[in-house]
Amino acid sequence: MKVFKFGGASVKNANAVKNVVTILSSTLKNDKNNPLIVVVSAMGKTTNLLESLVDAYYQSKPTQTIVDEFKSFHLNIVDELNIKDLSNINITFQQLAYKLSLPHSDNYHFEYDQIVSFGEQLSTKILAEYLNQTHLKATWFDAREVIKTNNKWREAKVNWELSQTKYDDILLPKVRENKIIITQGFIGSTLTNHTTTLGREGSDFSAAILAYFSNAESVTIWKDVPGMLNADPKYFKGTVLLTKISFTEAIELAYYGASVIHPKTIQPLKKKDIPLYIKSFIKPNEGGTAIQSSTKYDAKVASFIFKPNQVLLSVTPKDFSFIIEDNLKDIFAILSDENVRVNLMQNSAVSFSFLIDDKYNLQQIITHFKNDYLVKYNQNVELLTVRHYDDDTLERLTNGKQILLEQKTRQTARIVLG
Ligand code: ASP
Repeated sequence: MKVFKFGGASVKNANAVKNVVTILSSTLKNDKNNPLIVVVSAMGKTTNLLESLVDAYYQSKPTQTIVDEFKSFHLNIVDELNIKDLSNINITFQQLAYKLSLPHSDNYHFEYDQIVSFGEQLSTKILAEYLNQTHLKATWFDAREVIKTNNKWREAKVNWELSQTKYDDILLPKVRENKIIITQGFIGSTLTNHTTTLGREGSDFSAAILAYFSNAESVTIWKDVPGMLNADPKYFKGTVLLTKISFTEAIELAYYGASVIHPKTIQPLKKKDIPLYIKSFIKPNEGGTAIQSSTKYDAKVASFIFKPNQVLLSVTPKDFSFIIEDNLKDIFAILSDENVRVNLMQNSAVSFSFLIDDKYNLQQIITHFKNDYLVKYNQNVELLTVRHYDDDTLERLTNGKQILLEQKTRQTARIVLG
């Protein structure tokens, strides 16, 4: 059993969907009796569009223009693919219309999950219908039947034990009967069957979850890049492909911000020693990156991760107290309440500094601190992370720039540049 994951870019239009089918077809030709679970994201930029729909719905503004755009985008693809049976696809449109006809609850995050999940429902229905018109027969499966989560809307936590049971009871028999299962990334459901999502870009994680439950022999994430590069070509010249790296290395790189895979993806695979391949859907015959258990190849190439648009905040207790556990507890409670993800932190005796993406409501965060802390911040700073660094390289990269903060371990250097 193998698990494949196709992201939004790989199903962004009719030709892209046809390309997915070519990849599936040639995989099955070479590996006839091996079933595939195919995890699919929403098509193209659909999730962003649905986010604007959630906003409109929640603010009780007109939603029709956005719904029309959502429908026509998908129906154009359906039309170009010459899909004849629209009944399943139309049910999804009707369900969305019904949801939008109801008054919204007071919980924005809840409403977000109920609406944004329509992107994945539709993309998988379109792909499954199209596959069923070819010689490849596919079974559409609702991932929410298996991926059971808590109700932390938009960042739901998986209930691994219950989901494993659901997998064994519901999906496994289908996998045994069918060569291709088409299912959604990104979505799950609570015990009371309300839809949840696993965080933006969470479909990679869904693929890893299903691979874990099914003890898959491998996972392949198909991307529009040749694999995992040692740096983002947008920011660095002369990038190289990491052909083989360890799970640990991949976790570190993803955690530090290498955006090729979702950081949560690796842990479940590492636990069961299931290799992860990252390959190009444009050049499917090329090798890509293999992420596996051996650490032998990790230090061969230095990797660079650059995060622009950062804000560095420093908070100092007004009562002259030291930064000790009590203060840290308060600080983290504020950050957790605001759903802020910290990219780097450091403390001295009297201040605590942390770096965050410039996407949060900064004034709101500052307001929480203002009573008890003096707050200073620098906007527009950059975070550079170098794995397997050497001093000459660091010198070259930081030359002429203002270093605001620096952290080094044996393998990793992290530098905040002004
Ligand atoms: N469609 C979701 C997103 O765009 C999940 C995913 O693609 O991984 O974030």
